[in-house]
Amino acid sequence: MTPPVVTRFAPSPTGYLHIGGARTALFNWLYARGRGGKFLLRIEDTDRERSTDEATAAILQGLTWLGLDWDGEPITQFARKDRHAEVAYAMLASGKAYKCFSTQEEINAFREEAEARGSYAVFQSPWRGADPSTYPDAPYVIRMLAPRDGETIIQDEVQGTVTVQNSALDDMICLRSDGTPTYMLAVVVDDHDMGVTHVVRGVEHLNNAARQQMVYDAMGWAVPVWAHIPLIHGEDGKKLSKRHGALGVHEYQVMGYPAAAMRNYLARLGWSHGDDEFFTSDQAKAWFDLAGINKAPARLDFKKLQHISG
Ligand code: GLU
Repeated sequence: MTPPVVTRFAPSPTGYLHIGGARTALFNWLYARGRGGKFLLRIEDTDRERSTDEATAAILQGLTWLGLDWDGEPITQFARKDRHAEVAYAMLASGKAYKCFSTQEEINAFREEAEARGSYAVFQSPWRGADPSTYPDAPYVIRMLAPRDGETIIQDEVQGTVTVQNSALDDMICLRSDGTPTYMLAVVVDDHDMGVTHVVRGVEHLNNAARQQMVYDAMGWAVPVWAHIPLIHGEDGKKLSKRHGALGVHEYQVMGYPAAAMRNYLARLGWSHGDDEFFTSDQAKAWFDLAGINKAPARLDFKKLQHISG
């Protein structure tokens, strides 16, 4: 029996809910709801400087307006930092990670030397493979013992098979010297603990998937289904920015657009179902599939939104 689908939306609360985030949330919601699965919400507030309660409230409000209901209480990532540290230490105990005592100056010097030689400067810690009995009593980070050879292969439902040369990746830091987890570790631990089966998110996170997959492998956890969805471009084919018009979902709410029209419009940003332009929520839930997501960037067309709302 295939396990029930669990998806999630994991925004960083550093601003309002924008079109790109709303589309990611909608795709996750449609995929889960169309399959009797769960749609979870995780507030990724580990960046303490940029995260605000106002942004969290704005994101929840935007999702609520769009009718994207989530299951259970939203998870707050920062509150789980002890669990993240526990996993970093578990990897250390099982030999999948090591303590690195290199200082920032040493790392910079390594990079400068490599650059001077004209080689790609992937930091190689001298503490990799060191005997723990030689560890000094000094601040350290926990780095993952990543494979140096071979390839990491990402099977992505949208992007296809993506191959990453392991030699291009350094031993990523999982736990910082102040005991806080890195984003890369926290995401994997949370997705695993929340039982997420499908990670559907923006293509800008595709590179992270290779590193994250190494953590799944190190912990012996099942890798979720990956689906990295395309960028959204403006009408001129350029990367989306404020000059393309309103990007905050709340702006459409204020302008009086119906939420259903907005949902329909967002669904069509990178996903298509034959020639169908308009559909009800039930149809969207029934028809939405990862296979129908395009690889090429989606284009914003505000005239279309006005048309749908009209
Ligand atoms: N917090 C990340 C963002 O807002 C998303 C991370 C993820 O979906 O894995 O871009």
